[in-house]
Amino acid sequence: MLPDLDQIIAHHEAGHCVVAITTGLKLRSVRMAFDDGKADWLVRDNAHDRHMHALTLLAGPRAELRFVGSYSDARLAEKWQTHWRHDLYGVLKHCDGSIAEAITEVDHLVRRHWGAIKRVAAALLEAGQLTGREVEALMAQQA
Ligand SMILES: [Zn+2]
Repeated sequence: MLPDLDQIIAHHEAGHCVVAITTGLKLRSVRMAFDDGKADWLVRDNAHDRHMHALTLLAGPRAELRFVGSYSDARLAEKWQTHWRHDLYGVLKHCDGSIAEAITEVDHLVRRHWGAIKRVAAALLEAGQLTGREVEALMAQQA
């Protein structure tokens, strides 16, 4: 039995946000759009590092997977075709080195900041949207 879809989306977006800030990107805001089950994250600065961008894009699906535990092969294939598509396309576009190494690096960041990701996900679920400053404040709290 999978967790609630809104919970899954919140952890996915929280993964993007926390890794964005951790790698030095500026997060402007994050929003959940409950009507269509999608969410947005934005960065303020477009001239950021390609590797950081690749890690940030990868962090959504990797945080989501950590939260869910695992998907069946069919569900995973569906993810690749649907709302992970944009993230993973961006990873392919921005990752100049090994994708396997990028996954290892992101998984390490997600594990290290899991408490912050959970706090951001909970706040995002409750408020529907957060500013970058609010995310930074949640990250600064002790687990
Ligand atoms: Zn995403």
